[in-house]
Amino acid sequence: MCRIKRRLQLATEIADSNPTTKQYRLAAVLFKGGVLLKAGQNTEKAAYTTGYTLHAERAVFRDETLKETAGLLYVSRVRSRGDVSVSRPCEECLGFLVEETKVIRVYFTINSEHHGSINLRALRRSK
Ligand SMILES: [Zn+2]
Repeated sequence: MCRIKRRLQLATEIADSNPTTKQYRLAAVLFKGGVLLKAGQNTEKAAYTTGYTLHAERAVFRDETLKETAGLLYVSRVRSRGDVSVSRPCEECLGFLVEETKVIRVYFTINSEHHGSINLRALRRSK
């Protein structure tokens, strides 16, 4: 298994273990230099009623010092049936990652076999 798939698999396992929600289970893991620095999970869907849900990507950066880390972020989503689904960061998270962090690239699951990625450095350059 290649490095990207291994790390997405780790994100999948963390998403799958999210105790707060069943429907939308996402996890993001931040790596740098082969080291796992932080994992984050989204908060429960019920939080939408308060108008704010913490997305997994943002949960990673609750530790503000990590915003300076030029690392790689891996995101996975597990649906209620247990299958891996599309976890491409939403526009809000993408904007946050581009503008407020130094993450180089974000990898996201499409399904259990395939993934995609977004080059955040290229997005910063094009601003
Ligand atoms: Zn988001």
